[in-house]
Amino acid sequence: SLPLQSKRVLVTASGQGIGRASALAFARSGASVVATDINEGALESLSAEAKAEGLAVETRVLDVLKDAAVAEVVAETGPFDVLFNCAGFVHSGTVLDMADKDLDFAFDLNVRAMIRTIRAVLPGMIAKGDGSIINMASVASSMKGVPNRCAYTVTKAAVIGLTKSVAADYVAQGIRVNAICPGTVESPSLQERMKAQGDYETARAAFIARQPMGRLGTPEEIADLAVYLATATYTSGQAYAIDGGWTI
Ligand code: NAD
Repeated sequence: SLPLQSKRVLVTASGQGIGRASALAFARSGASVVATDINEGALESLSAEAKAEGLAVETRVLDVLKDAAVAEVVAETGPFDVLFNCAGFVHSGTVLDMADKDLDFAFDLNVRAMIRTIRAVLPGMIAKGDGSIINMASVASSMKGVPNRCAYTVTKAAVIGLTKSVAADYVAQGIRVNAICPGTVESPSLQERMKAQGDYETARAAFIARQPMGRLGTPEEIADLAVYLATATYTSGQAYAIDGGWTI
């Protein structure tokens, strides 16, 4: 049987990029997946792709900035065996460039949203005595300072702290909590960041140059690690770098 047979998985920000690849990878591993995002059109296309493959992916519009909406979706579709907190946003700028409103937004989406979903999902996992929570951090975090990414790096470091904190509190109750720390991964928002720099080819070459493996990662490579962490039974509180050698 498949490794995630009869498991229920909740994924945030699964309309595109790593979240979408992961929703599909969880379903291909046998899980029944609730795939959420704010982008309804992206969810419709995910739903069509999953249906064509015969995968169990139910889509729900969910803005993880909203407490009540998170609680409602979990009440209606839970309990879950696996939670993948994938939503996150990249702001550019140094500590001097960083607007307070951008820092507030980064904390709300990159950190507080994970706290919202964990609060909604964790009681059901504790009741089962089993659960895996996967939080999307980044190499740009407590692992590595990356130029011009202050709000992002601060909040992704907080994701690692959150991961370790929840892991420490619930390790004896069958709950595992781990963070994924990717390097540079080909995704729609990375494409936008490369275009926003003006000279697309030069920006792309610079992103590739910081990856010692000489290429960008794919969402599918990150999804494979998410599936592993969903099934892994002897690891918790860890931050897993998957970064093309960036932190060697
Ligand atoms: P992306 O940035 O292209 O897509 C993000 C998705 O999040 C979109 O579908 C968007 O609609 C959704 N979203 C935005 N706000 C939301 C909200 N309030 N509620 C629910 N969904 C919302 O995807 P990506 O680049 O694969 O990034 C996914 C995660 O991986 C992020 O947390 C990001 O920080 C992290 N990450 C990405 C890279 C990379 O190089 N791409 C590297 C390290 C970490």
